[in-house]
Amino acid sequence: MRCTRTRRVPLDLMREARERSGAGDVDRSVQCQLGAHGDGEHFGLLDDEQEYGTALWLRWRGDGQVAPAVLADCPTAEPGADGKGCSLFARHAAPHTWTEHGDLPSLTT
Ligand SMILES: [Zn+2]
Ligand SMILES: [Zn+2]
Repeated sequence: MRCTRTRRVPLDLMREARERSGAGDVDRSVQCQLGAHGDGEHFGLLDDEQEYGTALWLRWRGDGQVAPAVLADCPTAEPGADGKGCSLFARHAAPHTWTEHGDLPSLTT
């Protein structure tokens, strides 16, 4: 189960994400990428084409302000020889993506 909260991306952040990635489109809204977690901070992925090992996230709490955050990738992979990597950021609160909700949908290209 993945958290179902979504949030519109503010225009200035969309512009920033576009400039950083050099890519075309950035989604107009993002869904929280954490496993279902109730209240607390939500994190939507804006752009993972950052410097190696980091990604640009949109972070918000309830109906409050959103803030961008460049976070290091989660270093914890699934145990085993060909375990999947986790798609979240280091020290996230919810379970690793490979534990319960499988592959994340890819960003619109
Ligand atoms: Zn969430
Ligand atoms: Zn993880």
